[in-house]
Amino acid sequence: MALRKNLLITGVSSGFGRALAQESLAAGHRVVGTVRGSRAQQDFEALGAGAIGRVLDVTDFDAIPRIVAEVEAEVGPVDVLVNNAGYGHEGVMEESSLDEMRRQFDVNVFGAVAMMKAVLPFMRKRRRGRIVNITSMGGFVTMPGIAYYCGSKFALEGISEALGQELKPLGIHVTAVAPGSFRTDWAGRSMVRTPRSIEDYDGLFDPIRRAREAKSGRQLGDPAKAARAMLALVDNPHPPAHLLLGSDALGLVRDKLTAMSTELATWEAVTRSTDGTDQGTLS
Ligand code: NAP
Repeated sequence: MALRKNLLITGVSSGFGRALAQESLAAGHRVVGTVRGSRAQQDFEALGAGAIGRVLDVTDFDAIPRIVAEVEAEVGPVDVLVNNAGYGHEGVMEESSLDEMRRQFDVNVFGAVAMMKAVLPFMRKRRRGRIVNITSMGGFVTMPGIAYYCGSKFALEGISEALGQELKPLGIHVTAVAPGSFRTDWAGRSMVRTPRSIEDYDGLFDPIRRAREAKSGRQLGDPAKAARAMLALVDNPHPPAHLLLGSDALGLVRDKLTAMSTELATWEAVTRSTDGTDQGTLS
């Protein structure tokens, strides 16, 4: 077994967070898992002595530094932070309110950033640490009806990548893990669905909504296998900046890369046409 680690995982009540916590505990690691209520905390702690629950909504930005400091003092150094807590908002953009967008970004982006900002002073001091941000294939490929969700995951992908460059010289590695469709509560109890209001989108969007509802619980991806892959990742001395999970994600991302490459070539002359005549510098 690799050296015993302390993992701090947000959102361990179900899905990826729960599976990763179970896999980590089985490997002999200690897991501080965040949940949103005392019943869920008891349920999590029943997994074993190494399972320590903390009640936290990741949008409670003021509570996050205090909770992380408590974990460092009472449990020990956070070796690995996994920003897993998140949900999917589904709705045609024009029909979906700005408040729904704010909530999506508060949870999926600001919550994850607040967690990273709280652990970093400790990790920097040790010149050691791992951060895993659960993004999504929706952080690279898009489809109608999940604009806010994709926007939030694109944001987290970009932040992860830039942050990884800032932290590598300090011995801290950041990986954005982008799953395809997995069998969790994501498209079931956790999804926020904006009611329909504009008939013009019926033909495009209604079949997408119906298909997602029908597929919930029958997705291709197995969260237990994803958990094993993530645990292996945190033991790898050279983790990637991005890791896709699932053959569906691989296929869709490859298709997008091909389409992007074709589009770049088609528009290359226009792209190049805007340079100045002198030798400017890149910034
Ligand atoms: P899940 O079973 O619904 O689990 C989501 C977890 O996040 C739950 O523990 C939930 O807690 C927690 N959570 C949600 N909002 C929170 C908040 N404001 N504060 C604290 N915790 C919160 O779904 P999942 O698929 O495992 O989702 C985990 C991550 O994977 C998400 O970031 C999701 O976007 C991402 N993802 C999922 C898929 C997929 O197909 N399943 C694909 C790509 C990416 P409660 O039980 O209290 O609600």
